[in-house]
Amino acid sequence: ILHDLRRWARLRPDRPALVCYSGAEARTVSYAELARRVDRLAAGLLRLGVRRGDVVTLQLPNSWELVALCLASARIGAVAGPVVPTMRRREVEFMTRLTASPVYIAAAEVRGFSYAGMSAEVADAVPTLRHRVLLGGDGGHPGGALDFTRDLYAPEPDPELLASLDGLEAGPDDPAQIMFTSGTTGEPKGVVHSHNTLYAMNRAQADVLGLGGDDVTAMGSPTTHQAGFTWNFVMPMLLGATAVQVDRWDAQRMLHILQARRVTFFMGAPTFLSDLIDAQRRTPHDLSALRSFATGSAPIAPLLVEDADTVLGCRVYALWGMTENGCVTVTRPRQPPLRAAGSDGTPVPGMEVRIVGRDRRAVPAGEVGRLQVRGATQCLGYFRRQEVYDASVTADGWFDTGDLARDDGHGGIRIAGRVKDMIVRGAENIPVVEVEGALLRHPEVKDVAVVGYPDARLGERACAFLVTTGPALGVPELQDHLAGLGMARTYWPERVELLPALPRTPSGKVQKFALRELLHAAAT
Ligand code: ATP
Ligand code: MG
Repeated sequence: ILHDLRRWARLRPDRPALVCYSGAEARTVSYAELARRVDRLAAGLLRLGVRRGDVVTLQLPNSWELVALCLASARIGAVAGPVVPTMRRREVEFMTRLTASPVYIAAAEVRGFSYAGMSAEVADAVPTLRHRVLLGGDGGHPGGALDFTRDLYAPEPDPELLASLDGLEAGPDDPAQIMFTSGTTGEPKGVVHSHNTLYAMNRAQADVLGLGGDDVTAMGSPTTHQAGFTWNFVMPMLLGATAVQVDRWDAQRMLHILQARRVTFFMGAPTFLSDLIDAQRRTPHDLSALRSFATGSAPIAPLLVEDADTVLGCRVYALWGMTENGCVTVTRPRQPPLRAAGSDGTPVPGMEVRIVGRDRRAVPAGEVGRLQVRGATQCLGYFRRQEVYDASVTADGWFDTGDLARDDGHGGIRIAGRVKDMIVRGAENIPVVEVEGALLRHPEVKDVAVVGYPDARLGERACAFLVTTGPALGVPELQDHLAGLGMARTYWPERVELLPALPRTPSGKVQKFALRELLHAAAT
């Protein structure tokens, strides 16, 4: 990635690498300028005493500083440790303790929340954390915290130090990143990627979608999450493209940005697509440059694929992947545009997938089984939890993803949910994702999650958690709706709970364990 950065700094020095929106302000950083800032920050990190293999914890909002610090870490053989800004003391303490990170860098304060205050508490509890560096504010940080500009970035870098950077740079198989999983199923895992695995991931996804140096990419997700990190930082940087980054999600503002910057490619969980469609319906913008919208992280409702085409005028690519391996399968440009409504795609070059039963043999076509993958984008493992990782890898190198999938009938896969979220009613597996998709077709259902609850007779039954737009929906209305769609009675939810919103991770995934806890609390 550093090689590409330097290449573009030479070949297209003035091309904007990043356009970063923060509040009403947009800051543009060219490739040449970014390369200079990376060196400056690498020297700054060295001055702080950051050494090869150290994890640099970065809990920053989307910004050039975040991107430059990730690259600066690699420049001195250190490891970028992005942490999503919504994480709080408990999570940050867990992560910094696990990684034994010597330095934590955050914005001093964002929308009333003091990272300065939180980080002081974390530093008290985690003795290995030697430095806290805060960005913004008036620079006078209490409790011995350093200031990003004054202490890290501004001091004139020592020429000798700068000259020594090339010798310190990380090698292709060295750890580049420790990225925590979303914590959808429990405690987040610190996934370790090397420069090679990240490179393979980003190269493959750009190639299959036909993206190149003239593309302008945008996202609403945090760069501190794997999707944001790859699609809107590493991938555009490999291509010499421009990444438009925003510090917070506001669909209306994003429409304005898509129009003003002539964004060609957008990536985001289905929630982002749904928000943009709603906003464009209210106030239409010129989105003629926008060609493609890649969506993953969660199942996409077929209706959204159609609306993207008619309302936004762009084509949806459905993809499946994990923090552990990035984008592994994706639908393709040469396939029919609506394929994304019923498929999560075929593997990218360098990756293999298989769907197996309990006996580890391939399941018959169309049947649901465990999804396993192997290949070039697969991570090195889980930091200080290697035994957990190794337990998911077979002797011949297949990683068991914990997801369920079936053949999509066109040589690709369709995700059917997670092994942990599977609902077994009597002897029958309920196809949770399909039931959710069918419920979303009800005009008054805005959001839905189906989870199992214990039942003395059948073991489990399905409960639908709903966010609705109209008057309260109950079990009879939902069952009528599913009967109308021709869905088997055994799949119908037998209990309904209404919520103002579903609990989601910052990456847009429903935390079903939290919903199960709600059901459990209600039962006891
Ligand atoms: P944790 O591992 O901590 O429980 P997580 O698995 O949600 O969290 P991520 O790595 O961010 O953390 O997410 C990967 C998961 O997201 C996949 O294993 C899968 O369950 C889900 N996912 C990704 N893409 C899709 C998709 N297209 N359809 C359905 N689910 C998807
Ligand atoms: Mg996971």
